[in-house]
Amino acid sequence: MKKIIILSLLFFLLTGCSSENDVVSIIEKKHSKIAVNYPVTSNNTLNNEISSYVNKIYQEFKNEEKNYQNPELNISYTYKDVNKDIICVGLITEIYTDKEINKIKTFTFDKKNNKFLTMEDVVKDVSALDYVIKKVLLEKYREADMDFLANINYDYFTIDNENLTLYFSPAELKNDNKEIIYLDIPLNSLKLLIDIDKEKNDNTYISIKKKNIDYNKKVVALTFDDGPSKYTKKILDILKEEEACATFFIVGNKALFYKEELQRMIKEGSEIGNHSYSHKWLNRLSENEFKEEINKTQKVIEDITGFTPKIFRPTYGGYSDKLKTYTDLNFILWNVDSEDWKVKNTNKILNNIFKSVKDESIILMHDNHEYSVKALKEIIDNLKNDGYQFVTVSELLEIQNLRNN
Ligand code: ZN
Repeated sequence: MKKIIILSLLFFLLTGCSSENDVVSIIEKKHSKIAVNYPVTSNNTLNNEISSYVNKIYQEFKNEEKNYQNPELNISYTYKDVNKDIICVGLITEIYTDKEINKIKTFTFDKKNNKFLTMEDVVKDVSALDYVIKKVLLEKYREADMDFLANINYDYFTIDNENLTLYFSPAELKNDNKEIIYLDIPLNSLKLLIDIDKEKNDNTYISIKKKNIDYNKKVVALTFDDGPSKYTKKILDILKEEEACATFFIVGNKALFYKEELQRMIKEGSEIGNHSYSHKWLNRLSENEFKEEINKTQKVIEDITGFTPKIFRPTYGGYSDKLKTYTDLNFILWNVDSEDWKVKNTNKILNNIFKSVKDESIILMHDNHEYSVKALKEIIDNLKNDGYQFVTVSELLEIQNLRNN
């Protein structure tokens, strides 16, 4: 009950009075694995629709979770400012209980007229589109339900600078894969009613600052998982003030809302690692799904910062050896756990760190938990007093190499 109240409050705080873009992020790993990420946009009508949709799914899942072993809820999103008035949000829900359920929901919203847009508002000739779509779907899914095709609806779609993307549920198309089916229609083949702005490309390359590290002295790597978040800026401010650095294992689908923070990470001598795109439990993913989770995150980080991550931290700390063969990224766990997501108390976080930290430790924290932010200055000061130098994970690996040779 307490959690529901806190959660409702969180929804209210983040959706009720927001003017700037942000992401709501809920990550739980008690009985269930839960990773829910969705955007808070500059428009409250849209925000209310999104949060009540997500809230309903979350509550239903929480009511049911105890009936299953190893249940998982994952909600991730796509976000696009199509032009200065139109926002596109897609929400992808995956639920694993005794079965697998995949759902898609899209919102195409016109801020100027404060209304949700339908396909008729977006495409000039829907009947021409209809003809093409049916042809493509029939070719791809021969078993598709004829009733469905006859009465096809275009409730779920998003637009970006290149494509109109249509989404269909697997049940409708009798697709055994149970995955959401999507079709990209190139915009240049469509007559549109709305204007699409061409993407502004601002991926400036920022080189990593050279640091003066004595590798004969003690080193430690601070790592922050599950960000970026609304706390990231504060973490970066503290690191800068303390002349320290950290490694941020980023969840790709939140990155677009924190471009400035990501750029600062690289510019100010920290490192960015990959923590998947939507924080799914990796052991459930196929090779292709896993690669997609990795590659989408690599791309969004490269686009924003010009930096290519070389390290990966598995979600929930779990993976199989097979997964490691699907990527060149180095899998990085930790050897000191602050348990910041559990303890919610700065003293306990400090205790957890200082009872086990030693030379070459990798310390696990989370940048969406306020108590690690509150404890950060003290953590850094105490480590400095103990003679530690701060390095990124890649620098730590380099130092281990130097020491071993
Ligand atoms: Zn995580």
